[in-house]
Amino acid sequence: AEQKDVDLHEGIDSTLLILNHKLKQGIEVVQEYGDLPKVLCYPAQLNQLFMNIISNAADALLEADIKSKQIVIQTSVDDSKQVYIRIQDNGHGISPEIKEKIFNPFFTTKPAGKGTGLGLSISQQIIEKHQGTIEVVSELGKGTEFVIKIPISLVAK
Ligand code: ADP
Ligand code: MG
Repeated sequence: AEQKDVDLHEGIDSTLLILNHKLKQGIEVVQEYGDLPKVLCYPAQLNQLFMNIISNAADALLEADIKSKQIVIQTSVDDSKQVYIRIQDNGHGISPEIKEKIFNPFFTTKPAGKGTGLGLSISQQIIEKHQGTIEVVSELGKGTEFVIKIPISLVAK
């Protein structure tokens, strides 16, 4: 696969289209997009990452008994040439004990046949390949936020 200069918003938007059947079960998606430069990356891989994170957020909302289910996607750039993508949900959240394990391959809290437990471990590999970081902030019963940071100009690995 080749690296390309891409508009990350296009990747996020097409991910949201693919996930439409899941999202239209009562989830509001708020897109707060900043003015992002194009990012040299492996687009198919980053799309897979967006898919994993947004689909997990939707699962956490569909599993939760809350009135206004919402996913907020924010993008921004800072002057040290990093792009930030924040994906926030007000779903059931993650306990500290579980949070330690979520990036482990095959770790899942979902019923058999529903989750492979691979989404986040693959997402972490994808982010490492892009020399970025992925962090999670979560509070049980309140929600979860994944913060993805990607350098704008990166060297091929
Ligand atoms: P899977 O989705 O197949 O379970 P993942 O690697 O994508 O595997 O996620 C691992 C686990 O992390 C999930 O089973 C869930 O417990 C937790 N998790 C991930 N994202 C969220 C989220 N947005 N809210 C609550 N829990 C989450
Ligand atoms: Mg998943």
